[in-house]
Amino acid sequence: MSDTDLHPLDGLRVAVVGAGIAGLTAARKLAKAGAEVSVFDKSRGLGGRLATRRTEGGPADHGAQYFTAREPAFKAWVARAKLIGAAAPWVPRGKDGEEEWLVGMPGMSGLVTALVDGFTVAQERTVTAIHEIEGRFTLSFADGAEAAGFDRVVVAVPAPQAAGLLGAYGAPFDRIGLAAMAPCWTLIAALSAPIDPGFDVVRDQGALQWVARSASKPGREGETWIAQANPQWSAEHLEDDPESVRAALVPMLEAAVGPLPARLYEAVHRWRYALVDKAVGETFLLSPDGRIGAAGDWLIAPRVEAAWTSGDGLAEAMVAKAAASAG
Ligand SMILES: Cc1cc2nc3c(=O)[nH]c(=O)nc-3n(C[C@H](O)[C@H](O)[C@H](O)COP(=O)(O)OP(=O)(O)OC[C@H]3O[C@@H](n4cnc5c(N)ncnc54)[C@H](O)[C@@H]3O)c2cc1C
Repeated sequence: MSDTDLHPLDGLRVAVVGAGIAGLTAARKLAKAGAEVSVFDKSRGLGGRLATRRTEGGPADHGAQYFTAREPAFKAWVARAKLIGAAAPWVPRGKDGEEEWLVGMPGMSGLVTALVDGFTVAQERTVTAIHEIEGRFTLSFADGAEAAGFDRVVVAVPAPQAAGLLGAYGAPFDRIGLAAMAPCWTLIAALSAPIDPGFDVVRDQGALQWVARSASKPGREGETWIAQANPQWSAEHLEDDPESVRAALVPMLEAAVGPLPARLYEAVHRWRYALVDKAVGETFLLSPDGRIGAAGDWLIAPRVEAAWTSGDGLAEAMVAKAAASAG
């Protein structure tokens, strides 16, 4: 077996847009195949919707609440994450269904931190355009800067943002428009004293689709509660100012769990693209020449596992294409 077989991307530069689980999974696999990988994300943290906010009253996962593992490849990956302490089971009072619920450690974003190995991540870098110039790709950023000379590009951002970056590349990226994503307004409330409504999680309380006590997750301290408005309410109030959303969500949380003691921290977060309403129905999208592709949950389903599967599948296909053209 030659070096090219082991590292088919040797000497190639790859840009990955998006440091959620899809982008970081792809980045890791492409780096292992020999590529020099640079990840760019517009936010300050890693993990995208696998998000944990540190508050005065303790940490709170304000994006994905938990995840499940159904397919063998993701199950094997999760088993390794458990071994290194990046994931753990969660059995809250009020859990429904038979499937194991898992959480990232010490917060949801901890699930992906361990993926960052063998490549660089640049944060607060919003990519606004991807141009192809003489067979190589140049990224433009919101601040007017550019990064040039990439041989491959992975776009791993929510569908509407991917459409903006890949619209000019034609098929198969015209299929991005098949995906639809719903918003989610989320309330984070860190309480000054514990409460006990008799459950740790509950679904569908009026306009709230989910209420959860963070401290019921392994390794979390403090009395922090999360309340997520359902997609319909979130869409109706999408452009409302955060203060009026906070004022509307607090009484809803109180209706679900009882009166709240004084808050050490209270804020709302708007996820404009939270949950996949309609998926494209493919694992990933890749140009016929295998040089530019898209990954994300919106291709498959509104789940962490789907985002991982998409990023992993896209990277594998890019590596296979490179190996085939080298062979
Ligand atoms: C409120 C909420 C609750 C959820 N609950 C669950 C749950 O209980 N179980 C479950 O399995 N899943 C849940 N999910 C869904 C889960 O979080 C996602 O399926 C998964 O995290 C998506 O990963 P991703 O890598 O595809 O995208 P993301 O995590 O969205 O990552 C995309 C990244 O791209 C970056 N980005 C976007 N545009 C640009 C740009 N132009 N330039 C640079 N960077 C850019 C973003 O900052 C982000 O970091 C939930 C999501 C939310 C929001």
